[in-house]
Amino acid sequence: MEKRRKRIWTRIEAAGVDGFLTSAPENRHYITGFTGSSGYVLQAAQETVLLTDSRYAVQATAQAQGVTVVMHAARWLETLREQVKRLTIRRFGFEPGSITYKSFLELQDALPGIELVPLDSMVEQLRMVKEASELKWIAAAATIADDAFAHITGFIRAGVSERDVALELEVFMRRQGAAGVSFSTIVASGERSALPHGVASDRLLGRGEFVTLDFGARYHEYASDITRTVVIGPPSDHHQDVYALVLRAQERALAEIRPGMSGEVADALARDVIEDGGYGNNFGHSLGHGLGLAVHEAPRLARKSADVLQEGMVVTVEPGVYIPGFGGVRIEDDIVLTADGCTRLTHATKELLIL
Ligand code: ZN
Ligand code: ZN
Repeated sequence: MEKRRKRIWTRIEAAGVDGFLTSAPENRHYITGFTGSSGYVLQAAQETVLLTDSRYAVQATAQAQGVTVVMHAARWLETLREQVKRLTIRRFGFEPGSITYKSFLELQDALPGIELVPLDSMVEQLRMVKEASELKWIAAAATIADDAFAHITGFIRAGVSERDVALELEVFMRRQGAAGVSFSTIVASGERSALPHGVASDRLLGRGEFVTLDFGARYHEYASDITRTVVIGPPSDHHQDVYALVLRAQERALAEIRPGMSGEVADALARDVIEDGGYGNNFGHSLGHGLGLAVHEAPRLARKSADVLQEGMVVTVEPGVYIPGFGGVRIEDDIVLTADGCTRLTHATKELLIL
């Protein structure tokens, strides 16, 4: 944690400020180790201060090692003002993406004479490359998701509702030690599988339909994110062709993605295959996203993404084809970039399962 804070401070200092306020929950955790749901982190050259409230007094002191823990007053801005004064901060950086306009005005009001400087992605840039301990937690979260997929294939059948499938997945992951789900579980069947974000509904699964399952577990604050598509038999040739195309696109991206590549080039690895297969207009979203404390974080594997991939980044690879009125297929794995390629963190089978 101390090394992590030093790296962050080097970036903050280079941006020309003498203090930095973090309000994003993931950054708060990344900088201090504190897992409580409320608080602010104030970084200065001489120390890091965690401002939280009395509900978290014991937890914050135990978790935020090497950090000054301060319980703030009913108006937290008064405590912030005292700390900014004590640390003699004059140019104060803040995260424009994690503060509302109202909070910004309040901050301005509370800190007269202090120059507020918006600094984007100071911590997020560092969070992209994972440390060994982080990889361990993401891999564990991925294993829980793999096991949940294996379990749910024995539960899925015609007549069961999407919501029941989602609940079964979620209960299973909790029993395996997950703290919760990474995001609202997607179970999209039949025509609904053409909706990339079809959160589970009351619809009953039917025969001759795709079912797309997109879900993840949270483990030690870290998220996994996996998608598999199955068919409730028997599949038509159309089902098999679309599935084979998406799988080919995904496997090509996994085989060729490597450090040094831009997010745009990585995205094209899969997109080219889908375009050549005649379904370019049916793949509307990007190929993937970074994964860690947040389920969607930097870098982006997308058209126009200039993010450059580096060893140690964890990203998803998730091409899809969505055909209105028929259904859709998405296949998603979590990977870590290695020196010359990638290693998969999710291992659930990608053979088209006919249930
Ligand atoms: Zn997903
Ligand atoms: Zn994803």
